[in-house]
Amino acid sequence: ESEKLICIGCGATIQSDDPHVIGYTPQAAIKKGIDSNELYCQRCFRLRHYNEIAPVSLTDDDFLRLLNQISDANALIVYVVDIFDFNGSVIPGLHRFVGDNPVILVGNKEDLLPQSLKRTKLADWMRQQANLNGIHPDAVALVSAKKNHQIQSLLDLINKRRQNRDVYVVGVTNVGKSTLINQIIRQTTGVQELITTSRFPGTTLDRIEIPLDDGHQLVDTPGIIHPDQMAHVLSASALKIVAPQKEIKPRTFQLDEQQTIFLGGVARFDYEYGPKKGVVAYFDNNLDLHRTKLSNADAFYEKHLGGLLTPPTSDESEAFPSLERHEFHVDEKSDLVIEGLGWVTVPAGSTVAGFAPKGVSVIVRRAMI
Ligand code: GDP
Repeated sequence: ESEKLICIGCGATIQSDDPHVIGYTPQAAIKKGIDSNELYCQRCFRLRHYNEIAPVSLTDDDFLRLLNQISDANALIVYVVDIFDFNGSVIPGLHRFVGDNPVILVGNKEDLLPQSLKRTKLADWMRQQANLNGIHPDAVALVSAKKNHQIQSLLDLINKRRQNRDVYVVGVTNVGKSTLINQIIRQTTGVQELITTSRFPGTTLDRIEIPLDDGHQLVDTPGIIHPDQMAHVLSASALKIVAPQKEIKPRTFQLDEQQTIFLGGVARFDYEYGPKKGVVAYFDNNLDLHRTKLSNADAFYEKHLGGLLTPPTSDESEAFPSLERHEFHVDEKSDLVIEGLGWVTVPAGSTVAGFAPKGVSVIVRRAMI
């Protein structure tokens, strides 16, 4: 067996198998690195040369160890969630590790939500959802890392709240944590010292430390993979169609009982019973929504999957996982959420069902809007 190669930036074991896992380095770069005696993993290389943080992910075990480190620390925790996929952003069990440490809950990707939606109302809703998971944030912030919205005010908030503490930024993969850290780096100085990375003892876990003015650090931690995310079920091309890039335009349907809406071919919504009030769909503007009679819906799906109902494409439809049905009755105005895809807001007193590929969660929650 060959000797283990280590990144001199973060200490991760170098590997060239999986670009999404810690220590990834392309074969050619490994050789160059050895020859020049400066072997960096791709992530540290990019950070050094382009001041850019690339996302990495961890196994559950490593993540648990990381959380344990946090519970022992005296730190301000910046908990980043994707506001469009709140439930897919929840870090299971985080509350057990927070201890007495204060938490700032950051809702990223606010640019995707309708401008008409009051941000204060949204922040209240986030706080309430966090409470349900045992997290009691000291403050809630709404930002767009990509659009550079509210990043400076987030930094001000962090500075105000941290009071001589290190700052740990945590989040599951895909919430935009790397994009956020990159914005933070751009707006703070000291970029040269960025690779002062160190390791958590006993793990292969790396961390990126961004020096703060008073000798404390802002620590970027790797994201944890949420296996239920739509991103793990759909092909990259399909994901491009369903993952929203722009402000969502809500679409309202005046549904009768026993009607169905197909969300492309990736998911389905049944309005079984309920008042004749509009339901409002929040999905990417490019995702085609098709209304049919419920009684005809199964046959319709079979006939049109990969054609009228796309994504998946006709090539992909054969191998596409079958849809599983989840039924709910709601007493208050609620969102039926198909994790990672979007949601349908349904009136109080309705019975509805959501269908999604096996492995993708379907839940109901108090209406966001
Ligand atoms: P990480 O895995 O949490 O580090 O996530 P990334 O920073 O790699 O971002 C995941 C995806 O979300 C990328 O496609 C980003 O372009 C996108 N993204 C990140 N921040 C925002 C944002 O503020 N708004 C929108 N619309 N997309 C974002």
